[in-house]
Amino acid sequence: MATLRTLDALEREGLITPDPRLAAAAESMAIGLTDEMLALIDRRDVANDPIARQFVPSAAETVIAPDELADPIGDEARSPVKGIVHRYPDRVLLKPLHACPVYCRFCFRREKVGPGGEALSEAELDAALGYIRARPEIWEVILTGGDPLMMAPRRLAALIAALDAIPHVAIIRLHSRVPIVEPSRVTADVIAALKPKRATLWLGVHCNHARELGSPTRAALAALADNGIPLLGQTVLLAGINDAVETLDELMRALVSVRVKPYYLHHPDLVRGTGHFRVSIARGQELMKALRGRLSGLAQPTYVLDVPGGHGKVPVGPAYLGDDPDALTVEDAFGGQHSYPG
Ligand SMILES: *Cc1c(COP(=O)(O)O)cnc(C)c1O
Ligand code: SF4
Repeated sequence: MATLRTLDALEREGLITPDPRLAAAAESMAIGLTDEMLALIDRRDVANDPIARQFVPSAAETVIAPDELADPIGDEARSPVKGIVHRYPDRVLLKPLHACPVYCRFCFRREKVGPGGEALSEAELDAALGYIRARPEIWEVILTGGDPLMMAPRRLAALIAALDAIPHVAIIRLHSRVPIVEPSRVTADVIAALKPKRATLWLGVHCNHARELGSPTRAALAALADNGIPLLGQTVLLAGINDAVETLDELMRALVSVRVKPYYLHHPDLVRGTGHFRVSIARGQELMKALRGRLSGLAQPTYVLDVPGGHGKVPVGPAYLGDDPDALTVEDAFGGQHSYPG
């Protein structure tokens, strides 16, 4: 069966009941629910299912709060040529396309992602590569989108080869949801494309709940790791999906067990129509503190906020040092307070 892409298809699967607000939600962002994710939804309680909640549109998306933004992380402000976002001196994002395997209802590029349209033309991709080629300070190129693993394997291989041919690009990083949500796309051709001859490639995978790691997903991650591709995990902190200590504990352990190093836990961005997914920073810090006391250092992500306006990502705690520089105190992972000579 193919990816579900319409309200009708979701209704036939019993995942939604008719509601006029859903049409508005579906209009504001494309629908995409893959076979693999569909198979993991618990049909007895769809409304609270952590997988269904990520991909099935809800009426809550039509509620737009005044502080929510069309471009929540300021990509537009930092885009010198189409497809490039250049915010830090040593690295750029390169977005070859806007298609994704699924459409996450909380997506931080919600207003941009979608099937068809807006992929870079060959000429635009050449111009983006020209921008990178002309700037020796660019040490790392991060392919994102959309999802770079939605490119045809031949086109992906050509793009990675083109980056590999730029001597100052040491690192090619991809951020993708494909290995998690549509592992059947991780074919031998794709894996071959992910092996540049000179540069080093890292792959970040976006995974928000341990239940996303079904057996086809585990097999795809194992194939990537067996081929020497280092894997990072990115998780978005989401109300009603993973904002509980036990859930994050289980997810981070599961990621480490499949050779994915938790990299970032993203504070949810101020995306329009996503208030129902939002968690406070205070709650995020509390969860991170609890993880510090429970989990191996291997399983600890950094909790980050993308500062609205295009100012980049920063860690947002929690802090373990008191703020009096003359009487320094440090809190241990179990909440004990200790003084430390300043
Ligand atoms: C997130 C992001 C990066 C990568 O940041 P890291 O902290 O290196 O993972 C680079 N450029 C832009 C514009 C970003 O949004
Ligand atoms: S896969 Fe990533 S870019 Fe695509 S819809 Fe989900 S969060 Fe957005």
